[in-house]
Amino acid sequence: MVKRYGDVTAVDGLDLEVPHGICLGLLGPNGAGKSTTMRLLTAQSRADKGEITVLGHSLPGASKRARAAMGVVPQQDNLDEELTARQNLEVFAHLYRVPKDDRAAAVGRALAVAQLVDRADTKTGNLSGGMRRRLLIARGLVHRPRLVLLDEPTVGLDPQVRQELWSLVAALRSEGVTTLMSTHYIEEAERLADECALMSHGKVVARGTPADLIAEHAGTHVDEHYGPPERLSEVEELAKNAGLPTRRTGPSVSVLAAERQPESLRQELGPANVRRAASLEDVFVVLTGESVE
Ligand code: ADP
Repeated sequence: MVKRYGDVTAVDGLDLEVPHGICLGLLGPNGAGKSTTMRLLTAQSRADKGEITVLGHSLPGASKRARAAMGVVPQQDNLDEELTARQNLEVFAHLYRVPKDDRAAAVGRALAVAQLVDRADTKTGNLSGGMRRRLLIARGLVHRPRLVLLDEPTVGLDPQVRQELWSLVAALRSEGVTTLMSTHYIEEAERLADECALMSHGKVVARGTPADLIAEHAGTHVDEHYGPPERLSEVEELAKNAGLPTRRTGPSVSVLAAERQPESLRQELGPANVRRAASLEDVFVVLTGESVE
Protein backbone atom coordinates (compact mmCIF):
# COMPACT_ATOMS: atom_id res chain seq x y z
CA MET A 1 0.00 0.00 0.00
CA VAL A 2 0.94 3.60 -0.51
CA LYS A 3 -0.68 6.50 1.33
CA ARG A 4 0.37 10.10 0.83
CA TYR A 5 -0.61 13.24 2.64
CA GLY A 6 0.54 16.02 0.33
CA ASP A 7 4.31 15.76 0.16
CA VAL A 8 4.50 13.23 2.99
CA THR A 9 4.39 9.55 2.08
CA ALA A 10 3.07 8.09 5.31
CA VAL A 11 2.89 4.51 4.00
CA ASP A 12 5.39 3.78 1.28
CA GLY A 13 4.92 0.38 -0.33
CA LEU A 14 3.95 -1.49 2.82
CA ASP A 15 3.48 -5.23 2.26
CA LEU A 16 2.12 -7.08 5.26
CA GLU A 17 0.37 -10.38 5.71
CA VAL A 18 -0.99 -11.31 9.11
CA PRO A 19 -1.52 -15.06 9.56
CA HIS A 20 -4.62 -16.24 11.42
CA GLY A 21 -4.35 -16.74 15.14
CA ILE A 22 -1.19 -14.81 15.90
CA CYS A 23 -0.48 -11.53 17.61
CA LEU A 24 1.54 -9.42 15.22
CA GLY A 25 3.26 -6.37 16.70
CA LEU A 26 3.63 -3.46 14.31
CA LEU A 27 6.58 -1.76 15.90
CA GLY A 28 8.12 1.52 14.86
CA PRO A 29 9.17 4.97 15.99
CA ASN A 30 6.81 7.95 15.89
CA GLY A 31 6.02 8.86 12.32
CA ALA A 32 6.81 5.39 10.94
CA GLY A 33 3.29 5.05 9.54
CA LYS A 34 1.67 2.70 12.07
CA SER A 35 -1.46 4.77 12.70
CA THR A 36 -1.90 5.43 9.01
CA THR A 37 -1.74 1.67 8.41
CA MET A 38 -4.41 1.14 11.04
CA ARG A 39 -6.60 3.82 9.47
CA LEU A 40 -6.25 2.15 6.07
CA LEU A 41 -7.26 -1.20 7.55
CA THR A 42 -10.37 0.28 9.12
CA ALA A 43 -11.19 2.16 5.90
CA GLN A 44 -11.01 5.50 7.70
CA SER A 45 -8.50 6.43 5.01
CA ARG A 46 -8.15 5.28 1.43
CA ALA A 47 -4.86 4.02 0.03
CA ASP A 48 -3.47 5.85 -3.01
CA LYS A 49 -2.16 2.55 -4.32
CA GLY A 50 -2.38 -1.09 -3.41
CA GLU A 51 -4.81 -3.73 -2.24
CA ILE A 52 -6.12 -4.49 1.21
CA THR A 53 -8.05 -7.59 2.19
CA VAL A 54 -9.41 -8.00 5.70
CA LEU A 55 -10.79 -11.46 6.59
CA GLY A 56 -11.53 -12.03 2.92
CA HIS A 57 -13.22 -8.65 2.40
CA SER A 58 -11.59 -6.23 -0.06
CA LEU A 59 -11.29 -2.61 0.94
CA PRO A 60 -12.68 -0.11 0.35
CA GLY A 61 -15.51 -1.92 -1.54
CA ALA A 62 -16.49 -4.28 1.27
CA SER A 63 -15.34 -2.07 4.13
CA LYS A 64 -18.66 -2.27 6.00
CA ARG A 65 -18.45 -6.04 6.16
CA ALA A 66 -14.80 -5.93 7.11
CA ARG A 67 -15.51 -3.48 9.92
CA ALA A 68 -18.35 -5.59 11.24
CA ALA A 69 -16.11 -8.66 11.33
CA MET A 70 -13.20 -7.07 13.18
CA GLY A 71 -12.79 -5.35 16.50
CA VAL A 72 -11.10 -1.97 16.53
CA VAL A 73 -9.55 -0.42 19.60
CA PRO A 74 -8.53 3.15 18.85
CA GLN A 75 -5.55 4.93 20.32
CA GLN A 76 -7.69 7.80 21.50
CA ASP A 77 -10.22 7.10 24.23
CA ASN A 78 -13.56 7.96 22.60
CA LEU A 79 -15.88 6.43 25.20
CA ASP A 80 -19.06 8.35 25.87
CA GLU A 81 -18.46 9.86 29.30
CA GLU A 82 -22.13 10.50 29.96
CA LEU A 83 -22.98 6.82 29.53
CA THR A 84 -22.24 4.06 32.01
CA ALA A 85 -19.76 1.30 31.24
CA ARG A 86 -22.65 -1.04 30.41
CA GLN A 87 -24.35 1.51 28.16
CA ASN A 88 -21.14 2.13 26.22
CA LEU A 89 -20.95 -1.60 25.52
CA GLU A 90 -24.64 -1.79 24.62
CA VAL A 91 -24.24 0.92 22.00
CA PHE A 92 -21.40 -1.00 20.38
CA ALA A 93 -23.18 -4.35 20.61
CA HIS A 94 -25.91 -2.68 18.59
CA LEU A 95 -23.50 -1.07 16.11
CA TYR A 96 -21.66 -4.33 15.63
CA ARG A 97 -25.01 -6.00 14.96
CA VAL A 98 -24.97 -8.51 17.77
CA PRO A 99 -28.44 -10.13 17.51
CA LYS A 100 -30.89 -8.58 19.96
CA ASP A 101 -31.33 -11.74 22.01
CA ASP A 102 -27.59 -12.15 22.45
CA ARG A 103 -26.79 -8.58 23.41
CA ALA A 104 -27.19 -8.83 27.18
CA ALA A 105 -24.91 -11.85 27.31
CA ALA A 106 -22.37 -10.17 25.01
CA VAL A 107 -22.32 -7.05 27.19
CA GLY A 108 -22.01 -9.17 30.33
CA ARG A 109 -19.07 -11.03 28.84
CA ALA A 110 -17.36 -7.79 27.81
CA LEU A 111 -17.83 -6.36 31.32
CA ALA A 112 -16.17 -9.48 32.70
CA VAL A 113 -13.27 -9.12 30.22
CA ALA A 114 -12.84 -5.51 31.34
CA GLN A 115 -13.15 -6.59 35.00
CA LEU A 116 -15.84 -3.98 35.41
CA VAL A 117 -18.79 -6.11 36.49
CA ASP A 118 -18.90 -4.17 39.77
CA ARG A 119 -18.67 -0.83 38.02
CA ALA A 120 -21.08 -1.61 35.18
CA ASP A 121 -23.45 1.18 36.17
CA THR A 122 -20.80 3.83 36.83
CA LYS A 123 -20.64 6.66 34.34
CA THR A 124 -17.53 6.29 32.22
CA GLY A 125 -16.42 9.79 33.15
CA ASN A 126 -16.04 8.58 36.74
CA LEU A 127 -13.87 5.56 35.96
CA SER A 128 -10.09 5.60 36.39
CA GLY A 129 -7.77 5.79 33.37
CA GLY A 130 -6.96 2.08 33.60
CA MET A 131 -10.62 1.08 33.84
CA ARG A 132 -11.46 3.18 30.81
CA ARG A 133 -8.71 1.55 28.81
CA ARG A 134 -9.97 -1.91 29.73
CA LEU A 135 -13.46 -0.84 28.73
CA LEU A 136 -12.18 0.53 25.43
CA ILE A 137 -10.58 -2.83 24.63
CA ALA A 138 -13.61 -4.84 25.80
CA ARG A 139 -15.83 -2.63 23.65
CA GLY A 140 -13.90 -3.77 20.57
CA LEU A 141 -14.46 -7.40 21.58
CA VAL A 142 -18.18 -7.25 22.31
CA HIS A 143 -19.11 -9.06 19.07
CA ARG A 144 -16.38 -11.69 19.46
CA PRO A 145 -14.37 -10.67 16.41
CA ARG A 146 -11.84 -13.01 14.85
CA LEU A 147 -9.47 -10.11 14.26
CA VAL A 148 -8.67 -7.26 16.61
CA LEU A 149 -6.78 -4.10 15.74
CA LEU A 150 -5.14 -2.47 18.73
CA ASP A 151 -3.65 0.93 18.01
CA GLU A 152 -1.01 1.76 20.64
CA PRO A 153 -3.08 0.12 23.39
CA THR A 154 -1.04 1.41 26.33
CA VAL A 155 0.29 4.73 25.08
CA GLY A 156 0.65 7.26 27.88
CA LEU A 157 -0.38 4.86 30.66
CA ASP A 158 1.54 4.19 33.84
CA PRO A 159 3.36 0.86 34.21
CA GLN A 160 0.77 -0.82 36.49
CA VAL A 161 -2.06 -0.10 34.09
CA ARG A 162 0.06 -1.26 31.20
CA GLN A 163 0.66 -4.60 32.92
CA GLU A 164 -3.08 -5.10 33.44
CA LEU A 165 -3.77 -4.47 29.79
CA TRP A 166 -1.05 -6.87 28.78
CA SER A 167 -2.87 -9.67 30.58
CA LEU A 168 -5.98 -8.76 28.64
CA VAL A 169 -4.18 -8.88 25.30
CA ALA A 170 -2.39 -12.11 26.26
CA ALA A 171 -5.80 -13.68 26.99
CA LEU A 172 -6.98 -12.80 23.48
CA ARG A 173 -4.00 -14.54 22.04
CA SER A 174 -4.66 -17.67 24.05
CA GLU A 175 -8.21 -17.72 22.65
CA GLY A 176 -6.85 -17.75 19.09
CA VAL A 177 -8.04 -14.25 18.18
CA THR A 178 -5.82 -12.71 15.50
CA THR A 179 -4.39 -9.47 16.81
CA LEU A 180 -2.59 -6.69 15.01
CA MET A 181 -1.14 -4.34 17.57
CA SER A 182 0.77 -1.18 16.82
CA THR A 183 3.16 0.00 19.47
CA HIS A 184 6.29 2.01 20.01
CA TYR A 185 6.99 0.25 23.30
CA ILE A 186 9.57 -2.46 22.74
CA GLU A 187 8.67 -4.30 25.91
CA GLU A 188 5.05 -4.48 24.85
CA ALA A 189 5.97 -6.09 21.55
CA GLU A 190 8.49 -8.39 23.17
CA ARG A 191 5.96 -9.69 25.70
CA LEU A 192 2.86 -9.98 23.57
CA ALA A 193 3.77 -10.44 19.95
CA ASP A 194 4.35 -13.82 18.33
CA GLU A 195 5.91 -11.91 15.46
CA CYS A 196 7.01 -8.34 15.01
CA ALA A 197 7.01 -6.27 11.86
CA LEU A 198 9.43 -3.42 12.32
CA MET A 199 8.26 -0.32 10.47
CA SER A 200 10.31 2.67 9.42
CA HIS A 201 9.43 5.41 6.93
CA GLY A 202 6.24 3.69 5.84
CA LYS A 203 7.74 0.26 5.16
CA VAL A 204 8.36 -2.99 6.95
CA VAL A 205 12.15 -3.17 7.32
CA ALA A 206 12.30 -6.48 9.23
CA ARG A 207 9.88 -9.15 10.30
CA GLY A 208 10.08 -12.22 12.48
CA THR A 209 9.70 -13.56 16.00
CA PRO A 210 11.45 -11.33 18.54
CA ALA A 211 14.03 -14.10 19.09
CA ASP A 212 14.77 -14.46 15.36
CA LEU A 213 15.02 -10.71 14.84
CA ILE A 214 17.47 -10.44 17.71
CA ALA A 215 19.57 -13.37 16.48
CA GLU A 216 19.69 -12.01 12.93
CA HIS A 217 20.34 -8.33 13.59
CA ALA A 218 21.96 -8.16 17.01
CA GLY A 219 23.51 -11.58 17.61
CA THR A 220 23.54 -13.05 21.09
CA HIS A 221 25.70 -10.56 22.99
CA VAL A 222 26.39 -6.87 23.10
CA ASP A 223 29.58 -5.29 24.44
CA GLU A 224 29.20 -1.85 25.96
CA HIS A 225 32.36 0.26 25.94
CA TYR A 226 32.52 3.40 28.05
CA GLY A 227 35.09 6.15 27.76
CA PRO A 228 35.83 9.67 26.53
CA PRO A 229 34.36 10.73 23.16
CA GLU A 230 37.57 9.96 21.20
CA ARG A 231 37.62 6.46 22.59
CA LEU A 232 33.96 5.93 21.67
CA SER A 233 34.59 7.10 18.10
CA GLU A 234 37.53 4.73 17.87
CA VAL A 235 35.44 1.78 19.06
CA GLU A 236 32.73 2.66 16.55
CA GLU A 237 35.21 2.90 13.71
CA LEU A 238 36.93 -0.39 14.53
CA ALA A 239 33.63 -2.27 14.87
CA LYS A 240 32.26 -0.74 11.69
CA ASN A 241 35.35 -1.79 9.74
CA ALA A 242 34.86 -5.33 11.04
CA GLY A 243 31.24 -5.26 9.78
CA LEU A 244 29.68 -5.30 13.25
CA PRO A 245 26.71 -3.02 13.96
CA THR A 246 27.04 -0.49 16.78
CA ARG A 247 24.76 1.84 18.68
CA ARG A 248 25.37 4.83 20.92
CA THR A 249 23.73 4.85 24.30
CA GLY A 250 24.65 8.05 26.11
CA PRO A 251 28.20 7.69 27.40
CA SER A 252 28.82 4.32 25.76
CA VAL A 253 29.11 2.60 22.43
CA SER A 254 27.56 -0.83 22.15
CA VAL A 255 29.06 -3.33 19.74
CA LEU A 256 26.36 -5.76 18.64
CA ALA A 257 26.89 -9.40 17.78
CA ALA A 258 29.96 -9.21 20.02
CA GLU A 259 30.33 -12.98 19.88
CA ARG A 260 31.26 -12.60 16.20
CA GLN A 261 34.25 -10.37 16.94
CA PRO A 262 37.40 -11.64 15.32
CA GLU A 263 40.26 -12.15 17.76
CA SER A 264 42.20 -9.23 16.22
CA LEU A 265 39.34 -6.83 16.89
CA ARG A 266 38.92 -8.13 20.42
CA GLN A 267 42.58 -7.32 21.04
CA GLU A 268 42.24 -3.83 19.60
CA LEU A 269 39.06 -3.00 21.49
CA GLY A 270 40.23 -4.39 24.79
CA PRO A 271 37.75 -5.79 27.31
CA ALA A 272 34.27 -4.28 27.30
CA ASN A 273 32.99 -2.52 30.42
CA VAL A 274 29.77 -4.51 30.26
CA ARG A 275 28.77 -7.58 28.28
CA ARG A 276 25.03 -8.23 28.12
CA ALA A 277 22.45 -10.22 26.15
CA ALA A 278 21.25 -8.64 22.89
CA SER A 279 17.69 -7.26 22.95
CA LEU A 280 14.91 -6.29 20.58
CA GLU A 281 15.69 -2.68 21.40
CA ASP A 282 19.15 -3.14 19.87
CA VAL A 283 17.51 -4.41 16.68
CA PHE A 284 15.12 -1.49 16.67
CA VAL A 285 17.86 1.10 17.05
CA VAL A 286 20.13 -0.50 14.47
CA LEU A 287 17.37 -0.77 11.87
CA THR A 288 15.46 2.45 12.44
CA GLY A 289 18.13 4.69 13.91
CA GLU A 290 15.80 5.74 16.71
CA SER A 291 15.72 5.13 20.40
CA VAL A 292 12.55 3.88 22.04
CA GLU A 293 10.86 3.49 25.38
P1 ADP B 1 3.02 6.52 13.57
O1 ADP B 1 1.65 6.07 13.92
O2 ADP B 1 3.96 5.39 13.28
O3 ADP B 1 3.58 7.48 14.57
P2 ADP B 1 1.71 8.02 11.46
O4 ADP B 1 1.02 7.02 10.62
O5 ADP B 1 0.89 8.77 12.47
O6 ADP B 1 2.95 7.32 12.19
O7 ADP B 1 2.42 9.10 10.55
C1 ADP B 1 3.24 8.79 9.43
C2 ADP B 1 3.61 10.08 8.72
O8 ADP B 1 2.46 10.62 8.07
C3 ADP B 1 4.13 11.18 9.63
O9 ADP B 1 5.13 11.88 8.94
C4 ADP B 1 2.91 12.03 9.87
O10 ADP B 1 3.28 13.36 10.14
C5 ADP B 1 2.18 11.93 8.54
N1 ADP B 1 0.71 12.04 8.68
C6 ADP B 1 -0.09 11.18 9.32
N2 ADP B 1 -1.37 11.56 9.24
C7 ADP B 1 -1.39 12.72 8.53
C8 ADP B 1 -2.42 13.62 8.09
N3 ADP B 1 -3.72 13.40 8.37
N4 ADP B 1 -2.03 14.71 7.38
C9 ADP B 1 -0.75 14.92 7.08
N5 ADP B 1 0.27 14.12 7.46
C10 ADP B 1 -0.03 13.03 8.16
